[in-house]
Amino acid sequence: MNRGYQRDFTDNYRHKGLRKQLVDTIRQKGITDENVLQAINNIPRHFFLDTAFEGIAYEDRAFPIGEGQTISQPYTVAYQTQLLEVKPFEKVLEIGTGSAYQTCVLGELKAHVYTIERQKKLFDLVKQFSFKSKYPTLRFFYGDGYEGLPTYGPFDKILVTAAAPEIPEKLLQQLKPGGRMVIPVGEKDVQRMMRFTKISDAEFDQEIFADFSFVPMLAGKNF
Ligand code: SAH
Repeated sequence: MNRGYQRDFTDNYRHKGLRKQLVDTIRQKGITDENVLQAINNIPRHFFLDTAFEGIAYEDRAFPIGEGQTISQPYTVAYQTQLLEVKPFEKVLEIGTGSAYQTCVLGELKAHVYTIERQKKLFDLVKQFSFKSKYPTLRFFYGDGYEGLPTYGPFDKILVTAAAPEIPEKLLQQLKPGGRMVIPVGEKDVQRMMRFTKISDAEFDQEIFADFSFVPMLAGKNF
């Protein structure tokens, strides 16, 4: 029987200790941006997971969040956020809200975030998730991330947290000049982290980083 989704919203000394260890781990793996590390330290990751994962929420691993989706590994969240180089009050479009953990990391960095999720059940779960109110600069949308949010753009930064089989052109169009998009590109098991910087409407600088493994970016909305 499905007992529904349960969360534990107490943040005790043990959680805080485990969080410090997690920050040490991702620092050792190469994350150097102190603001990003501080954000990871500040956010109770177990709030974003079912109580079944409470004991392991601070391991540097991805975990299931329902609908066949996952909360990204903290190292991956930190890596993408570091590449994005977010400054306070920047307008950021995020594709793939999922648990909203990455969204709240961007909230810690005081970004104005517009985040899109295509799975209705995950979107509804996040809608009820009260912790997000800690960050008044976050806005949540149910839709297809391939379309972006043209009426709210252009954006300073775009962050895609699902694997794109190819570069979504509509998203590049919604970047401001000088704006940046961080996106894992590739099919199946392994994708390459890429960063695009918009020089002009027709010109983009392109950088390639390490390999990661994300759930796929899918077209259309899912009820
Ligand atoms: N950032 C999330 C990671 C979730 S996994 C977290 O920290 O929890 C990637 C998410 O992208 C999934 O929830 C998936 O449903 C969503 N997704 C996949 N394709 C999408 C699309 N076209 N538009 C919006 N969301 C999409």
